[in-house]
Order: sequence, then C-alpha cells, then structure tokens
Amino acid sequence: MKFVYDFHEGNKDLKDLLGGKGANLAEMTNLGLPVPPGFTITTEACQEFLRHGTHVPGLAAEIDEHLAALERKMGRRLGDPDDPLLVSVRSGAKFSMPGMMETVLNVGLNDASVAGLSRQAGGNDRFAWDSYRRLIQMFGKTVCDVPGDEFEDALHEAKAAKGVKDDVQLDADDLKALVTAYKKVFVKHTGHDFPQDPREQMDLAVAAVFRSWNADRAVLYRRQERIPADLGTAVNVVAMVFGNLGTDSGTGVAFTRDPASGEQGVYGDYLANAQGEDVVAGIRNTLALAELEKLDKRSYDELMRIMATLEGHYRDLCDIEFTIERGKLWMLQTRVGKRTAAAAFTIAAQLVDEGVIDLDEALTRVTGSQLGQLMFPRFDLSGDPAPLTRGIGASPGAAYGEVVFTSKRATEVAASGKAAILVRRETNPDDLPGMIAANGILTSRGGKTSHAAVVARGMGKTCVCGADEMEVGPDYFTVGAQRVDEGDVISIDGTTGRVYLGEVPVRPSEVVQYFEGDLDPAQANDPLVAAVHRIITHADEKRRLSVRTNADTGADAARARRFGAQGIGLCRTEHMFLGDRRELVERLILARTDAEREDALAALQPLQRADFLEIFREMNGLPVTVRLIDPPLHEFLPSLEELAVKVAVAHEHGQRVEHDEQMLAAVRRMHEQNPMLGLRGVRLGLVIPGLFAMQVRAIAEAAVALAAEGGNPRPEIMVPLVGAVQELETVRAEAEKIIADVIGDSGVEVLIGTMIEVPRAALTAGQIAEAAEFFSFGTNDLTQMGWGFSRDDVEGAFFWRYLELGIFGISPFESIDTEGVGRLVRIAAEEGRATRPGLKLGVCGEHGGDPDSVHFFHEVGLDYVSCSPFRVPIARLEAGRAAVESEGSDHR
Ligand code: ADP
Ligand code: MG
Ligand code: MG
Repeated sequence: MKFVYDFHEGNKDLKDLLGGKGANLAEMTNLGLPVPPGFTITTEACQEFLRHGTHVPGLAAEIDEHLAALERKMGRRLGDPDDPLLVSVRSGAKFSMPGMMETVLNVGLNDASVAGLSRQAGGNDRFAWDSYRRLIQMFGKTVCDVPGDEFEDALHEAKAAKGVKDDVQLDADDLKALVTAYKKVFVKHTGHDFPQDPREQMDLAVAAVFRSWNADRAVLYRRQERIPADLGTAVNVVAMVFGNLGTDSGTGVAFTRDPASGEQGVYGDYLANAQGEDVVAGIRNTLALAELEKLDKRSYDELMRIMATLEGHYRDLCDIEFTIERGKLWMLQTRVGKRTAAAAFTIAAQLVDEGVIDLDEALTRVTGSQLGQLMFPRFDLSGDPAPLTRGIGASPGAAYGEVVFTSKRATEVAASGKAAILVRRETNPDDLPGMIAANGILTSRGGKTSHAAVVARGMGKTCVCGADEMEVGPDYFTVGAQRVDEGDVISIDGTTGRVYLGEVPVRPSEVVQYFEGDLDPAQANDPLVAAVHRIITHADEKRRLSVRTNADTGADAARARRFGAQGIGLCRTEHMFLGDRRELVERLILARTDAEREDALAALQPLQRADFLEIFREMNGLPVTVRLIDPPLHEFLPSLEELAVKVAVAHEHGQRVEHDEQMLAAVRRMHEQNPMLGLRGVRLGLVIPGLFAMQVRAIAEAAVALAAEGGNPRPEIMVPLVGAVQELETVRAEAEKIIADVIGDSGVEVLIGTMIEVPRAALTAGQIAEAAEFFSFGTNDLTQMGWGFSRDDVEGAFFWRYLELGIFGISPFESIDTEGVGRLVRIAAEEGRATRPGLKLGVCGEHGGDPDSVHFFHEVGLDYVSCSPFRVPIARLEAGRAAVESEGSDHR
C-alpha cells in the first residue's frame, strides 16, 4: 500500500484517499497554479493507524522519502537552525467536518531555527518570533490539549502591558517574552517542555490529526450526517508561505461568485500582515477583496485570473484561501463552495447561460430542500432591522408573536386569538401543547437535534434554537443589557436563526408568487424566479414520476393544480363527517334499527356528493384518488371524560339527559385501548352496513354529474387499511354493483384499489393485486406499523434522543426508512406487478414530498408520488433530479 502522495501525484477525484483538501491541492498543482509544495498522507494510513494503535509499518519510511524530496525542492531542511524549512500540518477528510483537529502552522521552529527564520526574512526578528509564538499556541492547543484561553490571556496581558490594541503592535522583544510565557503555559499543562526536535513536532501533529478522527464531536457529527465511521482523515504537509512578513504580505479568502445571491463580482476579504485564520477570526478589520487591487495590483490581477481558471475547471462556484508573501501570490486551498438556496438556483442558471453546464447538470446542482427554503414566507428586511441575537435556524419560516415562557401561557395566548413565541432554555415533552399552540419556538440551548428542533421540524413550525447569548429567566429573558418581558413581541427567522425585537412584517416569497401564477418569470426581472422557472421546467421534461397532491377540498385542489399537481393521490373524506354533519354521524352511531341507520346515511350522501363534485371539477381531466373513511368512528363523538362529567352533573341536579346518556354508553362501548390498531379503515366498512356504500354512491354520482356537465372525471376509490385480499374482495363486490348501477352508460370509469399501509398487505401484495387496480403506499401508517410506534406518542417523547444517539440519522416520518419500511414497499411493488402488470403504483404518505424519499420511489419504479400542495414543486424538482441521476448511472 502507498501511504504518501506528492501533490503532483493526486487529483480532485481522489477525495476518498486524499481527503477534499488534499485532492484539490493536487488538482491545483497539476493545473500549474502557485501552490506551495507538499504531500498528503492518505486516509488509508489513518485507518491503519487507528487499527494498530500507533505504529503503521512502512509509513515513517515513506514520510522520510517525501520530506526529503520536499527539502530538496525547497533547498532547505525542516527546522534547520541556519535556514529552516517550515511546514503546516493540516487535517482534511473527504467531507469537511467540525470536530476534527485544526491546522498547525510553522512546524519546524524551535529556539535555534527561530534565528535562522529571522535571517531568511532579511533580519526580521519580529516576524520570526511572531511565527514561533503562533506555533507554540497552535501546537499546544490542538496537539496537546492545552486550554487555548491561557495563551489568549498571555497575549492579552502582553498587549495590555504595552498599552496597545493589536498584536501587530507588539515588537520582537515583546514577542520573545511572549514565547517564554507560552512555554510556561505549555509545561504547566503537559508536564514536559515544548518539543524542540522539528521532526518530532511533525510526527506528533500527524498522529494528533489521525486521532482527532475519533474525537467526540467528530464522532457525533458523523453519526448525525450519516458519514461512515471508517473513512479516516488524510493529513496534508505543506511548505509554509508567510503572510505575516510585513505590510507587503497578507492572507485572504475569496469566492468566485457571491455565495449569498449568486451574483458575479469580486467577493472576499483580505488582511495585510497576517497569517492563517487571522482573516476570518475578526481580530482586526479586514479589507474587501476589491481593495487589494490598489495595494498590490499584480497579485490581484493574478488572483482574478486564477479564480477564472478554477471556475472554468470545476465548472462551479469555488471558494479559495490564498496568501501573499512579499508580493508573491500562493494558493492554499480551493473547493466547490457552499452557497445559499437562492445562489444555488441563480448560479446553476448562469452557468447554463455561460455554456459551462447543460440543463441536466443544472438540475443536479440544486435540491428540493433548497427550493423548499425559497418557498417559506420571509421577513421584509427593507427597514434593515438589527437582530437582537441569533441562534441556529432549526426549522425554517418567519414567525412573530408575544413572548411566553410556559406551555400553559402559550395555549392561553393562542386561545385568545393572538400569536405567541414560546421561549424556553430547552424544551421537553411536557411543552408539547405549548409548542403546538405557539407560532414559533425559541430556545437558548441545544442544536439541530434538540427536542425543540426535532419536534418543530416535525410540525413544520418555525424554530430557532441554541441562541446562547440569551439568559432565560422565569418570565423574562435578557441578551446582555437588553431585557425582554413576557408579552413583549419578538420575531424569529427559522432560516437564518436571527431574532428581532418587535414585529417584523412578513411577505410571501417571490418563488411562491411565481408558482401561484402571480409573477410572470419572463416579466419579473428577478433572476431567482427566472432560474427556478427554467430549472423546474426542465425537471418536468425529465421526470418519469408524476406528482399528485394530497387535498381534501376544492380550494386545496385548485392551489395544488396551480403548483403543478397532476391529480389527487389522497383525498381524505374525514372532514365530510365533521362540522354540522357531526349530528348525522351521531345518529348513525346511535341508530337502533336499520331504518334509523339508513336515514342517517341517506342524509349524509347528498352532502358528500356535493363535496366530491367540487373536487372533481377542480381536478377535471386528472385522476382523483378518494379514500373511504379511515379513522375510528368515536373520533367523531365527544370525549369520554367530557360526556361523563356532563351526565354526572345532570344527575347531580336530578335531571335525566337521555341523549347524552345514550351517547356516553356508545362512547364507552367503542372505547379502544389502541385506536390506531382498532376498528378503523376497511374494518369499519365491513362492520357498519351501508357506510362505504354511501360513500361509493356519492363518488359515482358526483362523477356522473360532472360528466353530464361535459367534464372528464377520473375517480379512483381507495380502500384503507387492507391487510388481506378477502377484505378488499368483499368491499369491491359491493362497490362494483353500486357503480354499475349509478354510471349506466355515462361512460365514466371508476377504478378500485387499496392503500398498502399494513405490513401484511405489503407481504401478500401478490394476492391483493388480484382485487386492486392500483396500490397507494400509505407510508405514514406503514412506518408506524413497521416500527411499532405511534407518531403522536413518540415524536415528542424520544425521537430527539434517538437522533442524538445516532439510532436514527433522520426521523423515519420525515424520510423513508429505505432498509425496513422501504423494503416492504419494494416487495409489494414487485409482487403486485407480477400479478397485475399494469398495476398503478403511487405513494401518498408525507414521504411523497421528501427529497430523499422521492429518489427512492423513483428507483423502486412507482408511477407517482403525492404530497401536500406546498411540497408539489419540491417533488417535481426531485423527481426530475432522480431521473437525470439514474440516467447518469445507466451510462456508467
Ligand atoms: P481549515 O480546514 O480550518 O480551513 P487549513 O488547513 O486550511 O484549515 O488551515 C488554516 C489556515 O492556515 C488557513 O487560513 C490556511 O490558508 C492557512 N495555511 C495552511 N497551510 C499554510 C501554509 N503552508 N502556509 C501558509 N498558510 C497556511
Ligand atoms: Mg482552510
Ligand atoms: Mg393510514
């Protein structure tokens, strides 16, 4: 095995072996860009190191060889007292990862070589001692776990003693004294002196990078992000170049386009006489990159040329780290840069215009979740309000309301018709009612997998968490000197994590206005809207999956159609039994004779027919899947407690309340320990005569009515919760008779199919397909029943803990569990189609609008996904991406 690669030997496609940083340093070297020479120790060496404990046979010899080559190239030996070569030791895994060891610069300096470094720099003692103190500081902190504060304190004291503000104002003698102070700190914490042997410094730093792969924070991050634990990190050893040699030197960062908006221009920061992270550490005010043109035009021009080269080469936005050493430009890092959702779309469209990528590739450069971010309402920040504080944007959206500190208060404020923001140090399952009642949630502790964050995302509620400048008291919170009391109004932005005092106005996003048809992309003069239009249009051309919507009303259906839905995948009929129709349902349940029951059903039927007609009209020409009633009937009755109290109070007063007493008896009779697993779905239809028949008749009559108006209804009747083909056959036999009776020769066609949402149905799909013209996977129930937990009970109770422990990478209700629940889908799809080749397959759980799940459903070969109206554009985009990506893999 070869463990060490010179920069000349690698390239950008070797990220697995060389890590992201190493692969790109190699790529830049081979492009002929000015990269300081160096070499990369592979991730495989790291894997070996972690396996053996310490010693990796053969590694030391390879490092010797490459170090010797580097020394020859530079004409200097590592840490040579007269003319030292210095190097940086930099970690770099395949994915950039918080928690990994930070970079150590200036390795090779010691009490002797510091003088040699000064001579190299033309007798610049200040520079040499500044570099030495930085080495001890970084080495101490990152390699030997010395608390960084103690070095910061010593630096602060040195500045205070001299009465200066900036570290550049310390002279050589001050820095020499600082080195002495730093060494004391070092000994105090490690029990030994700062190592003087340059090679030992390097080896210790390399080993520390390897070990940091298993640092707690890194392990946790990997679990959450589903990064395999055995990849290991590479280590880059790079000859030092110096931005801290004086005012003709400096260091900077740059982007080839604006990572916030995607606009083209010059974006970056530059800091003169500085090293490494100084430029982003906020220690001194940086210059805008454009200013560099005035300071050092030659370097600036070269940097612009190089950035153009890199963009052309990577065909994407790049971010860059560079250093200028006495007028000579050096490239220290590049990668395809992170960007906002808006920039992702704008840049992808620009690159198409520039002929750099085609539309297929543009589609792979954006994601459904980015599109989702662009659809949230936003704060109108035109008044430029200053944020009060900021935390982590944990669940997107823009929300304002009165500050409340308890779940109880949140429900009271909401009940009075006002908006509340629930503010807590952190939330726990007891806060659930308040979280539901509030408009938004703000916590001072916890990250993206805290209870607050997980539950809020599950509910689609705006949440900012971990705003750690906040001190939360019992009925107030403070940020520094600012105090915010209960009842004060704040606004929180779940995308940026910003918190504002007062009510910031909210407006619908341009992208939603476009989907609504209120913004014409050709006229809008808005590059973002134009980009979204162009890319989603292409997705529509490419995708194989159709996208339907889940909609229960005509209004929802109409909106979804504007958003591009190609039908309804799930029309629930529950709401058709609610409101003032409850009374009819009560009559149905309390019926003592067939005649009473038939009366109640007969009264419901025309109402439901009207509901269906409205929906079929809105979806004229498109398929509409109607699910027959699913929830247990007692959900339509008053609660047991409520009734029991009412009846008891009446009896107390010597009154008889016959109706309530009957109802109470019925509710008691129907009470279930586990309603989710009780009398619901198809079971109801088989037990309550006439119930399904009434719905089927209403559907068929509505369809015939629309056909009579000249419309084209395409109803599909879906039977819920089937577990055995016999259930479906029984319902089907009755339904077919009614349909034949109603449609006569109107030419209307009605399909009958079932939801696959019980594991047994998935496993016997081959039989069930004999009685079904379509399957629709109800992945919410399939997930509940596959895992054996009920969503309402578990999401708030322990999901946050499971995410923290890495048992879930993501909630299985958010994204389909492909290995378990997904396997059931796959089996049912295959066996169902084996029985009935033309079987229509769709999905109507919330997963139908989840980006990763859409890719899975594409791959399994479903015909459509169905999701809530707002997710329709997201599903269209992701279905297009899935198609393009699978084409790509077919070519390979
Ligand atoms: P990170 O992964 O945190 O960006 P880097 O390895 O890029 O860490 O290094 C941290 C800082 O040190 C960066 O500003 C980088 O440009 C600078 N740096 C790294 N190696 C060298 C070097 N050989 N010469 C000068 N500066 C360097
Ligand atoms: Mg870097
Ligand atoms: Mg269900």
